[in-house]
Amino acid sequence: MKEKFLGVDVSSYTYNQLKKNIISDIEQNKQSFIVAINPEKILQAQKNVILLRLLNQATYQIPDGVGVLLASKIYGGNISERVTGIDMLLTLCEQASTYGKSIFLYGAQPGVAEKAKENLLRKYPNLNIVGVMDGYVDDHEYIKKQINAAKPDILCVGLGSPRQENWIVDNMKNLDVRIFQGVGGSFDVLSGRVKRAPATFQRFGIEWLYRLITEPWRIKRQIKLPMFLYKVWKNKKYNYS
Ligand code: UDP
Repeated sequence: MKEKFLGVDVSSYTYNQLKKNIISDIEQNKQSFIVAINPEKILQAQKNVILLRLLNQATYQIPDGVGVLLASKIYGGNISERVTGIDMLLTLCEQASTYGKSIFLYGAQPGVAEKAKENLLRKYPNLNIVGVMDGYVDDHEYIKKQINAAKPDILCVGLGSPRQENWIVDNMKNLDVRIFQGVGGSFDVLSGRVKRAPATFQRFGIEWLYRLITEPWRIKRQIKLPMFLYKVWKNKKYNYS
C-alpha cells in the first residue's frame, strides 16, 4: 500500500483504513510511526540521505499536500485523498476516545499543548489525555520518564520537521508507547494560537493559497511545488522512455 516519489515512500491508505490499522496496531502491541509527507520534505530528502531513510522508516507516510496527489496522478498511482497531519491527529483522538485508548501531547511553546488539550476535551469529552509537555524542555531523561510513567497508547510529537521525526526514531524503542505521530504545528492550531484555513479552502485542497495570503513570506517554501512536479514528471519520462 505504498507509492514512491523520488525515492520517498507514501502510503495510499485512506482515513478509514488508517483508523482500523491504528487500533489493530495498538491491540497487537506493535509500535507504529506516522509521518506527514509533502513536496517540501520529498525535495529535502533528495539532498539528505539520512532524512530519506528516516522518512522511509516510518510505518505510515501520510499524503499531506495536494502536490503528493498530483505526483500520484502523474505516475498513474492510487492516492486520491489527502491525509493531513492535523486531521490524522483528530482521527487518532476520535479512535482513542471510541476505543478507550490514551494519548499524550508533546511539543510547542509552554502552555500551548495544555490549551490544545482543553479544546480537544471539549470536542471529545471521553478522550483520555494522560499527559502534556512543552517542546522546549531540555532534559531528555525527564521527558522519557514522564511519558513512560503516563503510558500513553498514542504519542503526538509537535517539534517541527525533521526534529520531531528524528526524536521519534531516536526514542521509540525506549518508550512504552504504541503509536507515534509527528504533528508539526498542530498544537498551535488546536490551541487557537494559529488559525487554520477556512473550510472552503480546506475542501478544495488550497489551504496553501490561504497561507500564502495570510503569511506571504511562505512563498519561498511554496515555490518549491512546481519544481517538485517538474522533477516527478522528468523522473517518469526518464524511467518510461
Ligand atoms: N517546536 C518545539 N520545540 C522546538 C522547536 C519547535 O516544540 O525546539 C514547536 C513550535 O513551537 C511549533 C512546532 O514545533 O509548535 C513547529 O511548527 P511548524 O509549523 O514550524 O512545523 P512544520 O509542520 O512546518 O514542520
